[in-house]
Amino acid sequence: MEHNKNQNLLRKLPGVDHLLELIKKDTSFKQLPLNVCKSSIRYALENIRTNILNEKKVDLSDKTILATVFKHANNDIKNNLIGVINATGVVLHTNLGRSLLCKEALKNITDISSGYSNLEYNIDKGTRGIRYSAVEDLLCELTGAEAALVVNNNAGAVLLSLNSLAENKEVIVSRGELVEIGGAFRIPDVMTKSNAILKEVGTTNRTHARDYTMAISDNTGLFLKVHTSNYQIEGFTSSVPVADLVTIGKKHGIPVMEDLGSGMLIDFSKYGLGSEPTIRDSVKSGADVISFSGDKLLGGPQAGIILGKKDIINIIKNNPLTRALRIDKLTLAALESTLRLYRDEENVIKKIPTLRMLTDSYTNIKKRASTILKRLEPVLPKHVEIKLADLSSRPGGGAFPSLTLPSSCITIKSAKISAVELEKKLRKNDTPVIGRIEDNCFVIDPRTIQKGEEKIICKTLIKILN
Ligand SMILES: *Cc1c(COP(=O)(O)O)cnc(C)c1O
Repeated sequence: MEHNKNQNLLRKLPGVDHLLELIKKDTSFKQLPLNVCKSSIRYALENIRTNILNEKKVDLSDKTILATVFKHANNDIKNNLIGVINATGVVLHTNLGRSLLCKEALKNITDISSGYSNLEYNIDKGTRGIRYSAVEDLLCELTGAEAALVVNNNAGAVLLSLNSLAENKEVIVSRGELVEIGGAFRIPDVMTKSNAILKEVGTTNRTHARDYTMAISDNTGLFLKVHTSNYQIEGFTSSVPVADLVTIGKKHGIPVMEDLGSGMLIDFSKYGLGSEPTIRDSVKSGADVISFSGDKLLGGPQAGIILGKKDIINIIKNNPLTRALRIDKLTLAALESTLRLYRDEENVIKKIPTLRMLTDSYTNIKKRASTILKRLEPVLPKHVEIKLADLSSRPGGGAFPSLTLPSSCITIKSAKISAVELEKKLRKNDTPVIGRIEDNCFVIDPRTIQKGEEKIICKTLIKILN
């Protein structure tokens, strides 16, 4: 009996062509590509078929099916890569895209990519030019380096430098610096892929100058110093400063590389943010080659910046891998504009979003938190407890691992909806709002919320909590 009933229903299902004809006549489908509609029709019919076989109630009217098709097709044409609101307070959030570009960079991306440019053209001579010249002089001016090169990202910069300077040669690294930086970047693995031979020296917590000296052989190609970006070893520790490695290296004819990881062009200690050396300090200490990311503390686009002595940078430029890792023109445009802002140290903090968020004051953040609180308090139901709390933001991106930034956050707790559930609903909003949970409260940190986003957050919270 059931079987026959199902067969009857299945036979009554409208055909794809019939539905497609209806869609062609329906103006509400006008903006949707026909191929998208077709696959949405198949999706809708498949859904009904499954429901019939599972004995579920089904509506076989054209109207209902077309409504499903319309909804599915509209979802299908949305981008996969979408904007989200970062309410986590982690400024350089790698999962959420790290740096936000400054206005100047955005404008330059549009200008350069919507027309032709002198990307690899020398206007003075009318001949082929060099891609890197857009930023090389600027990088040298800002850091004191002799020469510079930019590639796709810092992982690429490290791979390329190791391969250029130490292929089939030993690279001496302290055991305390064999780091893994989120995702799949591990110094020993990059070393293997670059065809360099890792020679570990010292111990996890202490490495001395004599460890490096004793490890030198005829086949030593490089000393590598890696910034332990995302962790800190405390207690009985010792490591060898780059300047000392340079002294040893000079004696034995071994170049020194420093992977700075984040790398900063300005002295953040002025703003109460740790006391890390700047890139200029690293250049001064004499390293032959230095690499760092474009989208960490620099606040620019994803890029790997390589600074160094002229002859060393030339060797790297001539490596065929450089072509494989080359920076694209959009990135180059954004990087040049970002770097130009650093010429004006007084204003750079205000203009580069990453720097603005990192140096934002507690007082200012508290003011913004209060505005949000005032807007929400009167309209949220009684079961919601909403308050301000003095909590911390984090720089993220493997910068200043043990530093926290004092912040004023909004905490939300409800008797009806758990923090976990609230977090999920906000995350799945049309414009996802990403926050964090602390002590069973949902926490919103205004430090990383951009202008105009407060409104969306409030509207969404009101919708979810009422
Ligand atoms: C972040 C980091 C990298 C990787 O840089 P990307 O620009 O993300 O490729 C490499 N080394 C160190 C020390 C880092 O902190």
